[in-house]
Amino acid sequence: MGTHYLFTCPNCVYETEVSGGNDVGMACATSTILCKTCKELFDIETSTEPWLAIERDWKPEKYSCPNSPDHPCRLWKHPGPCPRCGVSMKKVEATLNWD
Ligand SMILES: [Zn+2]
Ligand SMILES: [Zn+2]
Repeated sequence: MGTHYLFTCPNCVYETEVSGGNDVGMACATSTILCKTCKELFDIETSTEPWLAIERDWKPEKYSCPNSPDHPCRLWKHPGPCPRCGVSMKKVEATLNWD
């Protein structure tokens, strides 16, 4: 079961709901990425073999922005920078569980 959290930026108005790192559900694993072009955080599916992703130092091999594979992006993990202004995002609350 994965969990999403609400993250807010204390400096600008940006807020988003993502898992804030690697997360594992029943059928897939997701990771949070920061797209430098969209200036957004996204949760993307990074593996359909979640049992592999449970391992501690697992890192997704392939990830790209859901809007375009050409956007430069990187893995994002809490505590991480706001995609708009670079200030550390605040984790506010758990928002939902997913399978
Ligand atoms: Zn910000
Ligand atoms: Zn993008």
